[in-house]
Order: sequence, then structure tokens, then C-alpha cells
Amino acid sequence: MAITADRETPIRSFDSTSPATGEVVGSFPMDGPEQVAAAVGRAREAQRGWDELGFEGRRRALLTYKALLVRRADELIDLVHRENGKPRADALIEVLMIVEHLDWAARNAARVLGPRRVRGTLVLANHAASVEYQPLGVVGVIGPWNYPVFTPLGSVAYALAAGNAVVLKPSELTPAVGCFLVDTFADAVAGQPVLQVVTGDGTTGHALCLAGVDKVALTGSPATGRKVMATCAERLTPVVLELGGKDAMVVDADADLDAAAGQALWGGMANAGQTCLAVERVYVVDAVYQPFLDRLAERAAQVRPGGGPDADFGPITLPRQLDVIRRHLDDAFARGARAVVGGPDAVHPPYVDPVVLVDVPDDALVMREETFGPVLPVTRARDADHAVALANANPHGLGAAVFAGRRAGPIARALRAGSVSVNSVLTFAGIPSLPMGGVGESGFGRIHGPDGLREFSRAKAVTRQRFPLPFPMQSFDRPRYVLPAVKAAMRLRHGRAPRPRRG
Ligand code: NAD
Repeated sequence: MAITADRETPIRSFDSTSPATGEVVGSFPMDGPEQVAAAVGRAREAQRGWDELGFEGRRRALLTYKALLVRRADELIDLVHRENGKPRADALIEVLMIVEHLDWAARNAARVLGPRRVRGTLVLANHAASVEYQPLGVVGVIGPWNYPVFTPLGSVAYALAAGNAVVLKPSELTPAVGCFLVDTFADAVAGQPVLQVVTGDGTTGHALCLAGVDKVALTGSPATGRKVMATCAERLTPVVLELGGKDAMVVDADADLDAAAGQALWGGMANAGQTCLAVERVYVVDAVYQPFLDRLAERAAQVRPGGGPDADFGPITLPRQLDVIRRHLDDAFARGARAVVGGPDAVHPPYVDPVVLVDVPDDALVMREETFGPVLPVTRARDADHAVALANANPHGLGAAVFAGRRAGPIARALRAGSVSVNSVLTFAGIPSLPMGGVGESGFGRIHGPDGLREFSRAKAVTRQRFPLPFPMQSFDRPRYVLPAVKAAMRLRHGRAPRPRRG
């Protein structure tokens, strides 16, 4: 059955289709500046009541939303499968992960953002000091299609818990999932439209950036990140940018090679490699290179794409991504790379078979740019330091993985990435108390965890004079002796260089 969004009469509309079958999943309005501005206006109204609900009221509302999403999980999983193409098992993982985030954001917002006393200084000992984090107002969330539940709600949950209203612009490839998330919220939480949806392509996202929202949270490609930031600069609207990755895995000599090979395969090929945090490069130290590769190749040869229940991963959702994958493969082969699994004809739309590449030069496209396909280049490194240096020689820095024993900690610390999993892949994304975000081309700002709550808040500092001093500093009536006395006190307290610590 096709879904038709039941909102204002659209001027133009567009269809979303199943990437596996071409079936029309739904028809949606191509919202323009007028519709977007109206949604932001309604959100501004709704935000007041949402703010007044306080942390406890919002906690209950968000937990009610979470529970309804869980009760409707089968419907949501089916919709994600149809509209994005991924297997139902992958859709279930997505829903499971975001439910944990919703729960954490709802339960922890008061603790992280609520008012708390902070210590003052000796000079201002007569003042009490406190800090609290207040909502920004209305947040515009612009989402991608590859994790149409997890990625937008990863911002939406934290923005709502912090007391903001949200206008969501889902990807034009997965608007039905976006509408489902928003409709379910409306069913769970009565009253003003605290969470709304606008549908359309990049022009709708552009309109949202210009609609006077208080922050834009984009999850998308670095190219879109640049555009969004430039547009938002016009109104000094702050942005948080969760952009693409080229995540590396480092395998050290004392790693569990079976586990490393299994996780490299899953991290690289689950969701057909269309994961911002997908393993897209593997660096293996010389001592274990061949046994690792043998294990990986043996397993990769058994993995199959398809649309049926037995498929390990689904189709490529964005048709033009097939050209990118083909280009990366052709370029790698032209530069002397070899495929130990798959080959030049791996791309057969809408599917791509698993490809494991070796002997790929560092400057090949598949080593530098996001491939977003089930293609895994494996590179031999002299040792762990060399592997880290190779991993870090890339402008992206979203996530990374390390398989190692003794040196796992130092390697994880040395990798230039926002998050690292040791002896697993992608795990950090599923732990709600951890921040997530990138460096370099992968963006900036953080969603999830306490940092994610603060990303959608404004720190507010308040001091309260508890009693007046007999010799006020902040006054034209200051007696003459005050400044010399204060200077002497400053010297006494701060004028000595620190002594070296013992031991
Ligand atoms: P995209 O950049 O093409 O689009 C993302 C969203 O931005 C869409 O909703 C799109 O309509 C909108 N958009 C496009 N142009 C715009 C403009 N000028 N102004 C405002 N909005 C605009 O990305 P995509 O193809 O949907 O998603 C894949 C990308 O997202 C990959 O690079 C992937 O790595 C990245 N991603 C990152 C994360 C993360 O957490 N860092 C998570 C998932 C996906």
C-alpha cells in the first residue's frame, strides 16, 4: 500500500520508491519556504509549552513515545525494509539502538542540564554561582537515508529532551520513515506539535536552514555539510554536522584474528557498506597479514546481497552511488589492485557483491573517499605505528576500530577519529552515554550522551550575591586601600610557580 502524507495541500509532490523492487512506497509534498516557515512558526509556539513541562514532564512524554515506537516496531521495521531496502534484521538493530538512546536522553536530561551550584573563587567568595542549560528553541534536523530511524532520532531525541521543538526534514529517499516517526510522536504525546516533519529534497533542507531555526543538525555528506554551513552563516544559525567517514580498522599482531576478520566483514558490508561508520579501510600488521586475509576472504566469499529473507545485505539505496562504487573499483584495478573476493563485475544494479581488495595504493579513490558500498581494501603495515599513521592520513575522522591485545589502548588514543571501538566495530554508537561525532571532513559537534544534550542547549550562568563585602571591588566608591590589598592577596595566592610533584 502506498502512503500519502496527510498534510497541507502540496504544490508539487514526489514519490519514494523501494530500491529493491521500484514499488512506490509513498507520495509526499515537496515543501517549499512557505510550508517550512509555517512549520517553524508552529514549532516556536509549541516549544513554550514543551519547555514549561520541565524535565519530568518531558521525560514522561519521551518514554511514552519510546514505548509506542516499540509497540509499532514491526510496522516501522517493515517500512524501513521497503523504503531503504535493508534486511529486516538490520532495521531491527536500528530501532533497538535508537530506543536505548531515547530512553537515556529522557532519563538523563535533568541530571546533565538542570541547574547546579558550582564553586566560586576566594575573591568573589560572597557570591554563589550556578549553571544550567536552557533549550535553544527550535531545532531543524536534516537526515540521511542510510539509517532513516537511528540518525535523525539521534539528534531529535536529545534536542527534545533538552526542551526544544524540532522540525525534521528526512531524506527524500526515506520520507515515509520520517513521517512515521513524527506521526507516532503525535499519537503518543498529545497537544502542540513539538515534533513536525517537512518533506522534500535539498531545496526543502535549504529552506529549513533559512527559516530562523535556532540550530541545524545535519547528518549527511561533507559536500552538503559545506552548503548547510554556508547557508546558516547568513543568519549566524549554529550547526552540528555529522558527516561522512572513511573509517579504518587496525589489526595488531596479538589480535584475535577470527574475531577481527568477522568484524571487519560485518563492519564493512552490513547495510551494503552504506554506513557512515562502516569499516572502509583495514590496516593489518605484517606479522598477521596473511592469516587475517585468509580468514576474511573465506568468510566474505559466503556473504550475499539480495532482497529475500536470507540475504546478508540489501540493495544500494541511492542509484547514483552505484556509479561511485564502480568508479572506485575501476580506479583501484587500474592502479594495480587485486580482488581476492569479488571483482570488476561485482556491481549488478541494484546490488553489489562483496569485494575484498589488496595491493591498493594509498592514493586510490577507494582509500581516500567514502565508497559507501561492500568494498573492503586490506593493506599491509610494518607495525602498529605504521598502521596508525596510514589510518590517520585521511581527511575524514568519524570512527575507527582496533583489534589488539597489549597495545589496544595507545592505538585507540592515537587514531584521529571521534570514536573508537576496541575488539569490536561500531559499538560506541550503541552506547547512549558516549558522545558521537567526527573530526575534519567528518564534521564537528557531538550528538548522544551528555555532550549531545548540551549540543542542543545554551549554557546559562547565574551568580547571586549572598552578602555585601565591606570593601566592594565593583564600585566607584571603592576605598583606596582595596586595590593594593587585593594585589598583595593575588601575589600570595597565584604568584608562585608550581613545585614539581613528588613521585
Ligand atoms: P546528503 O548529504 O546527500 O543528504 C543529507 C540530507 O541533506 C538530505 O536530507 C538532503 O535532502 C539534505 N540536503 C541536500 N542538500 C541540501 C542543502 N543544500 N541544504 C540543506 N539540506 C540539504 O547525504 P545522504 O546521501 O542522504 O546520506 C549519506 C551521507 O550521510 C554519507 O556521506 C554518510 O556517511 C553520511 N552519514 C553520516 C552519519 C554520521 O553520523 N556522521 C550518519 C549517517 C550518514
